[in-house]
Amino acid sequence: MKVLKFGGSSVANSENIQKVLAIVAKESKNQKVAVVVSAFGKTTNNLLAGANEALNNISVAKEIIENLKELHFNVIDDLVKKNKQEVSEEVTSLFNRLTSIYEGIFLLQELSDKTLAKVSSFGERLSSYIIANAAKELFDANHKESRDLIITNNEYLNAQVNFKVTNKNITSFFEENKHQVIVLGGFISSNVFEETTTLGRGGSDFTAAIYAAALEANELQIWTDVSGMYTANPRVVKQAYPISEISYEEAMELSHFGAKVLYPPTIQPALRKEIAIRIKNTFEPESAGTLICKNPKNGNEVKGISHIEDISLITLEGGGMVGIPGFSKRLFETLSVAKINVVFITQASSEHSICVGVFENDAAKAKELLDETFSIEIDKKKIKPIIVESNLAIIAVVGESMKNYQGLSGQMFSALGRNNVNVRAIAQGSSEKNISAVINKYDAKKALNTLHEQFFEERTKQLNLFVTGVGNVGERFLAQIHQQKKFLKENLKLSIKVIGIANSRKMAFDDNGIDLDNWKDALENGEPTTLDSFHKKVKESNHINSVFIDNTANQQVSEIYEKYLRDSISVVTCNKIACASSFDNYKNLKHLSRKYNASFLFETNVGAGLPIIDTLKNLVNSGDRVNKIQAVLSGSLNFVFNNFNADSTFHDVVAAAQKEGYTEPDPKIDLSGVDVARKILILARESGYKMELEDIAKNAFLPEKSLKTTNNNDFYASLTKNEAHFQNIFKEANDKDCRLKYVAEFADGKANVGLQHIPSDHPFYNLEGSDNIVLFFTDRYPENPLIIKGAGAGADVTASGIFADVIRIANK
Ligand code: ADP
Ligand code: ASP
Ligand code: MG
Repeated sequence: MKVLKFGGSSVANSENIQKVLAIVAKESKNQKVAVVVSAFGKTTNNLLAGANEALNNISVAKEIIENLKELHFNVIDDLVKKNKQEVSEEVTSLFNRLTSIYEGIFLLQELSDKTLAKVSSFGERLSSYIIANAAKELFDANHKESRDLIITNNEYLNAQVNFKVTNKNITSFFEENKHQVIVLGGFISSNVFEETTTLGRGGSDFTAAIYAAALEANELQIWTDVSGMYTANPRVVKQAYPISEISYEEAMELSHFGAKVLYPPTIQPALRKEIAIRIKNTFEPESAGTLICKNPKNGNEVKGISHIEDISLITLEGGGMVGIPGFSKRLFETLSVAKINVVFITQASSEHSICVGVFENDAAKAKELLDETFSIEIDKKKIKPIIVESNLAIIAVVGESMKNYQGLSGQMFSALGRNNVNVRAIAQGSSEKNISAVINKYDAKKALNTLHEQFFEERTKQLNLFVTGVGNVGERFLAQIHQQKKFLKENLKLSIKVIGIANSRKMAFDDNGIDLDNWKDALENGEPTTLDSFHKKVKESNHINSVFIDNTANQQVSEIYEKYLRDSISVVTCNKIACASSFDNYKNLKHLSRKYNASFLFETNVGAGLPIIDTLKNLVNSGDRVNKIQAVLSGSLNFVFNNFNADSTFHDVVAAAQKEGYTEPDPKIDLSGVDVARKILILARESGYKMELEDIAKNAFLPEKSLKTTNNNDFYASLTKNEAHFQNIFKEANDKDCRLKYVAEFADGKANVGLQHIPSDHPFYNLEGSDNIVLFFTDRYPENPLIIKGAGAGADVTASGIFADVIRIANK
């Protein structure tokens, strides 16, 4: 004999019920089957909502009944043919009774637990009756009223089963009844006075377990809308996957801490009789699902992660508790008498405080009762009034063999810490089946994803990017990410999503990752943006491993890095302004990056995609000392002076450089030497020297008037005006067989930048196109410098440098 239970979504409409009947037909071919069904779809919620409405507005309550009628009669129309008349009459009479109860609630203005139990029982009474009649059309089936078999105490909404009587009822009914399939309602029961009681919300799973245990079934199948018990709630953690086998105890822990797929009391009856529970998907019956059994085959040491939201922490605290027995007894007694469920307990070994987690709904009542219980001690100031903290969630990491592995809790809490999830309280049972932590409710999704990545996705790391600036560089960056996505996943086990993008006008977000084929449309249809609103959205979306990427050259953007770092969000930037701002600001950003464990990377600040800063960091970190740096660091100036000669005009060459993406958006920043000065400043700072931009000597070649222009048009006009000046600069170098290079030098703690005449035997002489070159003279490279040379400007190489920084974060 098998027991099959189908949940609300499995029986939400005719189409789904047909799937259910096909499964039952298959399973009942060779053996008898008891089928336990939930109410159709969200019927229970609607019935309860109707009862509450009936207190105030009976017509709204009746509207709810009309909708429920429509749902139920649609199923009858579609699936019941032979007994249609009889079934319709019975269902009409059930709805009439329900209407009378609602009217009673309205007239009496009273809604007791007893009435609520009665009202909510209609869902399963209707569903089991209708499904049994639909089944009769296809195979040998019959209906049985669960309230006749399952007998409970008088706790109407969370009734405790009298197993002795119930088991006897069940066995004798099934002995006498010879039908191959019996359809029964879940959730509903009755007390000895034949009043309706219910087994608690989600209780149909429990009903099925009661039947399975009483009948000593060889399997209990729970058919639902997901393919098993997952490593975490699949609606919150996209990467979660079904656990193939799990022990009763592990499943109990996961369900107790919120894995709704199984109602927690379900396990006990099955465990007592060692009946295997299989969780299956009605909509994908071929998927293996999850097997809950006594000796599951070995799996991951952490089996799953679950969470409960809407938790409050209640703290009893005070010096007067130390060493005096009885405080915890009184605390738990008070809560238990008031039927307040304690989800979580911790006590510091100093006994100075006891902390329990309860559902938020119960918190106010718990405080009131406990303040009263301890009123004498509170008055005498031996303890403080009860402290309540709300808006919390519990996350629990579950696995029986966790105890055999060292450092799992360390991994758990450091992963949470890395992602800026603050832990308010921790509990670890001595059996070490479960480590649970109380966190801010708003961090629950991030915490679950973080822990899932830590324990189940060792080989696939996620990065969530927020990209600002989608001009030349940003566009190329998005294209590169798009192109490499598959490669990164397969080869680096790295899953990169772009969650948010913004330009100076608009921003767009998609928690599942923006479609990079259509990001332009998404942005066009996005909402207006400001730096603060973008930051707020990034913070609110609260993704794990978040990275803010600045592809702009904008001062204000650079001023907001601090906020991101403080939220433990990494920053990658090609914008030089922050690192070339005051030394104190540069130092502060580095300090924040360390303090909040967020990377701050800016490889593209010098030499675009060339690994200059990374190399320098490796030299310094491994104990080398930088004595001198000589470099040509401006791809733009290189391009300009490599192309400028007597046959061209300076204006045209600069315009061409800008068009190719070799200059900053404001080309004067390159031509004035400011950009190169910033770069050598950053290299000096990364070498360990304290220096400010003003300390760098600049040998300007632009005429004063060009330097003073305030927009690109005026700037270009001034270049044309001063063509003779530029031709003269060219001629002076050319006459000496030299080439013009804009050189940056750092030596003895001083730096300068300027145009130099480079003779043909110098390593800089043959620098082509927009190439950069850097010579590092260090203690380890005193005579022959370490040389890095290559393309140092252009959108593509800059984008790839940013990409490299992103990969560095992933590899951290
Ligand atoms: P039914 O109506 O079939 O009883 P429930 O809604 O009670 O279904 O339970 C199934 C739901 O449980 C899933 O749709 C999923 O949203 C939720 N859930 C929470 N945690 C888990 C988990 N660890 N594994 C699978 N489902 C989970
Ligand atoms: N219909 C009940 C509820 O929604 C019981 C169940 O579906 O398990 O809570
Ligand atoms: Mg359920």
